[in-house]
Amino acid sequence: MPADFDTIVNLAKNRGFVFQSSEIYGGLRSAYDYGPLGVSLLRNVKEQWWRSMVQLRDDIVGIDSAVIQSPRVWEASGHLSSFTDPLVECTNCNSRHRVDKLEKPNQCPTCGMKDTFTEPKDFNLMFQTHMGPVSTAENAVYLRPETAQGIFINFENVRRTARMKLPFGIAQIGKSFRNEITPGQVVFRTREFEQMEMEFFCRPEDSAEWLEYWLEERRNWYMDLGMSADNLRMRAHEDDELAHYASSTYDVDYNFPWGWDELEGIANRGDFDLAAHGTHSGKDLTYFDPETNERFYPHVIEPAAGATRTTFAFLLDAYSEEEVGGEKRTVLKLDKRLAPNKVAVLPLSKKPDLVESTQAVAGPLRERWDIEVDVTQSIGKRYRRQDEIGTPYCVTVDFDTLEDQQVTVRDRDTMAQDRIPIEGLVRYLDERLAP
Ligand code: ATP
Repeated sequence: MPADFDTIVNLAKNRGFVFQSSEIYGGLRSAYDYGPLGVSLLRNVKEQWWRSMVQLRDDIVGIDSAVIQSPRVWEASGHLSSFTDPLVECTNCNSRHRVDKLEKPNQCPTCGMKDTFTEPKDFNLMFQTHMGPVSTAENAVYLRPETAQGIFINFENVRRTARMKLPFGIAQIGKSFRNEITPGQVVFRTREFEQMEMEFFCRPEDSAEWLEYWLEERRNWYMDLGMSADNLRMRAHEDDELAHYASSTYDVDYNFPWGWDELEGIANRGDFDLAAHGTHSGKDLTYFDPETNERFYPHVIEPAAGATRTTFAFLLDAYSEEEVGGEKRTVLKLDKRLAPNKVAVLPLSKKPDLVESTQAVAGPLRERWDIEVDVTQSIGKRYRRQDEIGTPYCVTVDFDTLEDQQVTVRDRDTMAQDRIPIEGLVRYLDERLAP
């Protein structure tokens, strides 16, 4: 890591990537709000996922299912009975911990006392609420703890209406909620978060091959967007780690400042989900193959990533410090597709005719990209600020511009400057910013 964790977290807070939620009321633990730059970065990560999963492919379509679904969904999926984490409480300081995440099994990480834990209790992670005006057990409902089940319950709707044939996938991005026992590390583990999940349905005998395929695809996605290969690893789950539904699972791990931790799980879920919903709902969720005249439950490969967690990892990975002319330069070397603002347009001074000309230059750029016009402070300070938030190009409008109709374009990474006629600016940037 080029800088310590706190430096990057401070940058994220001070530049408006993330804010503590409900800050003016003292903050709500483990909840975060995304500021102007954070929302853009998060949106760009989600857009890149959607582009690679849905837009560029014939065999995957998208959906957006409800957060609150019939409680029977969670009964069938096993979440009501087994979506639990083992919880212990320290009898000395009353802090609560997840047994499987303890560094030392008999020592409290909060107060340091040994052998003070209660017996582990299973704690269900789903948030419960009630639908309608009365709060009774009969109208209890749950906020979805994953987006996946919304896909399985729509399997037949999607297959029929989008006329999909095996193998095919259904993708979804959306909020999920888990009442985590030990949230932490900023947005890494929160109780409300966003997921990017895709269920890929295939013939049972092809599932092992598709699992290999998706491991490769997903690793490439992170690397194509600039994540360093040294900070990524694929880790196979041990037998005792496998979820009740999975026959084989890999984690895509990132080398976080506190060690390797999960960005995404890629699981072979077999026919667990379709068979469970078929049985519980009484609806036929099998697939009929017109070529072989067979009817069967497809098997499923699931790449399940966290949008918020991945956004955080891209931010950490992009952070760099360099020395330029004896001074420290902080640069977020975000891939151009992920950078919150693509271009900053900067008049050399606040003189009205320069500002007016800057707005004229910014107009057509605004039509195509997220840009910022910044008129305050010295040009050096403005360059540094744009480097710190990862803006790939700064366009400077100076006094010569008024005469020669040319602007200076500065590249974030090389700091090289090109003098470009205003009329060719969109094409120049387009060549460099196109996806
Ligand atoms: P963990 O072991 O970290 O709790 P998990 O294995 O339970 O995660 P999955 O159910 O596989 O996670 O969810 C898929 C992805 O959703 C995870 O890889 C992660 O990126 C994201 N995710 C899960 N829980 C959270 C959370 N509480 N906060 C942020 N992202 C999360």
